[in-house]
Amino acid sequence: MTQEKVNAVGWKLENTYAELPKAFFSIIKVKPVDSPEMVVLNHSLAESLGLNAKVVEGEEGVQVFAGNEVPEGSVPLAQAYAGHQFGNFTMLGDGRALLIGEQMTPDGKRYDIQLKGSGRTPYSRGGDGRAALGPMLREYIISEAMHGLGIPTTRSLAVVTSGEPIYRESQLTGAIMTRVAASHLRVGTFEYGANFAEKEDLKALADYAIERHYPEIKKDKNPYVSLLREVQKRQAALIAKWQMIGFIHGVMNTDNMTISGETIDYGPCAFMDTYNPATVFSSIDVQGRYAYGNQPPIAGWNITRFAEALLPLFHDNQEKAIQLAQDVLSEYPLAFNTAWVKGMRCKLGLFNEEEADEALILDLLKIMHKEKADYTNTFRALTLDDRKFSLFVYQDFQEWEKRWQERRKRQPESQKESKDLMCKHNPAIIPRNHRVEEALKAAEEGNLSVMEKLVSVLKDPYAYSKEQEEYSAPPPPSEAMSYQTFCGT
Ligand code: AMP
Ligand code: MG
Repeated sequence: MTQEKVNAVGWKLENTYAELPKAFFSIIKVKPVDSPEMVVLNHSLAESLGLNAKVVEGEEGVQVFAGNEVPEGSVPLAQAYAGHQFGNFTMLGDGRALLIGEQMTPDGKRYDIQLKGSGRTPYSRGGDGRAALGPMLREYIISEAMHGLGIPTTRSLAVVTSGEPIYRESQLTGAIMTRVAASHLRVGTFEYGANFAEKEDLKALADYAIERHYPEIKKDKNPYVSLLREVQKRQAALIAKWQMIGFIHGVMNTDNMTISGETIDYGPCAFMDTYNPATVFSSIDVQGRYAYGNQPPIAGWNITRFAEALLPLFHDNQEKAIQLAQDVLSEYPLAFNTAWVKGMRCKLGLFNEEEADEALILDLLKIMHKEKADYTNTFRALTLDDRKFSLFVYQDFQEWEKRWQERRKRQPESQKESKDLMCKHNPAIIPRNHRVEEALKAAEEGNLSVMEKLVSVLKDPYAYSKEQEEYSAPPPPSEAMSYQTFCGT
């Protein structure tokens, strides 16, 4: 692409990741696809990245998003990483993704621009390096919904079809998604560094992560211990947010946990309808390792793997290094719980803190579990004081409601202020699984309007607008019972 074209589009790419030791990536020569076509472009995200949405919507953008052309300044590479998948350690890496560079935005931020589904790399193992349209659109819808919900997440800039079929159980439409992330550094990148690279390489990676995500800890006595603590804090806050909106990631392997604290890798994820901590949607998670209620301890397990990878940087004496790690790791349960209780207070319209608040929250959840209440709609009904909502008929709920109302009165803020707080923390809608499926089915048949409407109502899930109402309905019981998700390969 010529400099003139680059200027018109607005690419401003740097490649700081490519300055890391060679062990961490492979430079890739991209393999063009036949006849790419734009399916969806995220206009507002494009503009915030400093791209000219009108121009990228056209042929210039399509060719870049398909991997057929690289913008000036781009050094396409596949990142190396390892990870614990369902508890087992393995070598991984970008098997079907390419980092085309880091876009410098007009407000001085740095974002990875990654193509997912862009072809084989040295890390593809047996895979074809490709992705199907359905899973890529699914990631687009859900990651944008997460962004709307105010949850740190990677985002989706565009999805293009490749014009080439891909083969799974059946023939599917091939597609490439452009993912935007604060970075793609994962816990698994550090596990790779610790297991397959030299100690200096691991140190270079840690210094890079600190510079990019936690520059304020550079001057700490032991910046690597601080790195562990800061990542743990961000992950604790992130998982608390997932729990608060009923999001189930589905495949919390260590390679799917970022150092930045953003949610990444929307494979078999889904939102819970009926409240039940044992909820699992993923077809491959037969043991329920990544069930809704297990997400907080699993994040702690993953952070422990991160700590193990960092041990050589903590101290030359292994025993001392382990002690330093344990001191930080022991803070996780409290870090998570504090973030969660704080958020749940907001969901119940509570400003100040009382010791019994946690019990009040847990008691509500117990009733919701027992009565099989819809998670999102329970908090929606409390927000709207919707007495027609199913829970209001139960005596145990009525008793709980009395306690809650009394608790709300024991704070100086008015009922109106309390309700406003609830509106900001209880979404009127979430991307319900049956709605997402409906949108994907239509899109695969060439009708994008269902998806566009869904994405638009999810832009501000806290709006409580008239047009959001129909999207708040839970699925018919038959669909809710049988809903399963599959890894997006
Ligand atoms: P994921 O389930 O997307 O987190 O991917 C786990 C690992 O499998 C990563 O190393 C991916 O790059 C790799 N992978 C997933 N799908 C493919 C594919 N179609 N071809 C090659 N590698 C893949
Ligand atoms: Mg992954």
